[in-house]
Amino acid sequence: MNSVQSTSSITVAKFGGTSVADFQAMLRCANIIKNDTRNRLVVVSASAGVTNYLVRLSQQNVTVNEQKDIIESIGVIQVNITQHLASDVEADLNQQINSLLDELTQHALTQSLQYTSKTTDAILAFGEQLSSRIFAQVLQSIGVAGEYFNVQQVMKTNSLHGKAMVDIKQLSEQCSLLLAPKLLDKVIVTQGFIGQDSQGHTTTLGRGGSDYSAALLAEAINGDNLSIWTDVVGIFTTDPRITDQARAIKEISFGEAAEMATFGAKILHPATLIPAIRRNIPVFVGSSKEPEKGGTQIKQKVESNPTYRSIALRREQTLVTVKSPAMLHASGFLAKVFTVLAKHELSVDLITTSEISVALTFDNPSGSTQSLITNTVVAELEQLCEVSVEHGLSLVAVIGNGLTCAKGIGQSIFETINDINIRLICHGASANNICFLVAEADANSVVEKLHNSLFS
Ligand code: ASP
Ligand code: MG
Repeated sequence: MNSVQSTSSITVAKFGGTSVADFQAMLRCANIIKNDTRNRLVVVSASAGVTNYLVRLSQQNVTVNEQKDIIESIGVIQVNITQHLASDVEADLNQQINSLLDELTQHALTQSLQYTSKTTDAILAFGEQLSSRIFAQVLQSIGVAGEYFNVQQVMKTNSLHGKAMVDIKQLSEQCSLLLAPKLLDKVIVTQGFIGQDSQGHTTTLGRGGSDYSAALLAEAINGDNLSIWTDVVGIFTTDPRITDQARAIKEISFGEAAEMATFGAKILHPATLIPAIRRNIPVFVGSSKEPEKGGTQIKQKVESNPTYRSIALRREQTLVTVKSPAMLHASGFLAKVFTVLAKHELSVDLITTSEISVALTFDNPSGSTQSLITNTVVAELEQLCEVSVEHGLSLVAVIGNGLTCAKGIGQSIFETINDINIRLICHGASANNICFLVAEADANSVVEKLHNSLFS
């Protein structure tokens, strides 16, 4: 086995679901680790599809038959990988998989008797627990000293199931104690997405949270680099499904990338850059399928700072307008509005105000079937003011640099789309973006036109 050197810099490598979907994919990732000995800590997602199965399994209305089918399907995804390993390794892994799936069956049963968000998290965590065990063995199969590590020993969180908050201080202390020493001569493979609360219960950080786990771990072990390996060759100037003119960006600053992650580019979990920025850890985003194609470097200082870097699009936005004549020359009204929103844990994206009204936008997390702005929220706001709610809107964010002092924005951006109704504009709070809302039906053509005019 080739062991890693103890003095060189450390890279944390995170592989997403498609990168660990099957044996070939895992093998490509294992070779990425092998080819660069700075890769010492590996954070994996669940194999593609597994978390979606688990989400279904954790729901209230699953029949016993469906439970069986789901657990079997998950097993199939995993043993299709282990069958490519040496037979003794395969046998050992399959035994571990079976015992994990037995545990999973127990949780599913518990959940169908009494549904709790605690059991939901216990169920959701199995994807990463399975994939990380298997990936450690795939590493070993090509001569890398891979070792499984249970992240719950270090990723201590509060008990907010489904979106648990990590205790950064405990994470750092536990990592120094339990994880850092192992990195000297092993490549440690651990789970993204999952944590543990103070009572020892499993928690999760929210869908797509493995990126964030990897960034937190990079921070906690004083990592020098974070690599996010996914299925695209970096961050693009816009969604390539909207225009074939979209191209990968070589370098992008933390500030710009954070705006992109927040406003639509689904490549990175929006919280990922927070630890990276805190510790100035450069982040690389690339495709584990085509590592030779390079990717995007996200860092503090980049060589060029163009006015326009990219365009992000986020669909299914909800616009809430609150209006109250009492707001005229009054103070405290907004505080009351925000108290209601905070109580329901609603996070506001864009805000514009006039003398007596305020317009606020909210994201609908992808896959959610329900509007976040429930009748209860509306009713509570109506105690304070008139409320109107609009759906069917998309948020377009033009990302770049110096946008608060750039000249000609009106012409470059808005003249290009002067046949489109713009429902709301936000400009001025950040030098890195200009956001506006358009009708869902206009969104693609707006992005295409803007991309043509700003980037070609
Ligand atoms: N497996 C989890 C999910 O699918 C976490 C992740 O992949 O980042 O959401
Ligand atoms: Mg992801």
